[in-house]
Amino acid sequence: MWPSEGQGGSCVADCLFCGIVKGEIPSEKVYEDDRVLAFKDINPVAPVHVLLIPKEHHSDVMEAADRDPAVLGHLFTVASKLAKELGLSEKGFRVVNNCGKDGGQTVFHLHFHLIGGRQLTWPPG
Ligand code: AMP
Repeated sequence: MWPSEGQGGSCVADCLFCGIVKGEIPSEKVYEDDRVLAFKDINPVAPVHVLLIPKEHHSDVMEAADRDPAVLGHLFTVASKLAKELGLSEKGFRVVNNCGKDGGQTVFHLHFHLIGGRQLTWPPG
């Protein structure tokens, strides 16, 4: 079980994405700075599928909005930069956050999906 709430902080034991931040779990990194890490999704749903995470642990977007709202803007800035670098800016792309069980969140360390490289459909399931 991954932590789901009330455990914000720099690093949380047994959190998969904290393990990636610490380098204990391998990942294919595409971007890194002092606050944000981006890596390829292990189960891509499109030709480009990158996850962007804050290095500091926030279980979901609501917790991050409470504890460090500035990191949300930074994550979107990095998503835009990566979209350009990965060749998505001309045809378009999607940035997705799944929040909570009904939102389809399965890893409870905030992350945004950057998805593109094919025609995406709407609405999502
Ligand atoms: P979500 O369902 O929004 O919580 O998304 C979690 C995402 O994490 C899924 O798209 C998974 O494929 C992805 N994922 C799970 N484990 C790993 C991993 N070790 N490395 C990269 N992506 C992962």
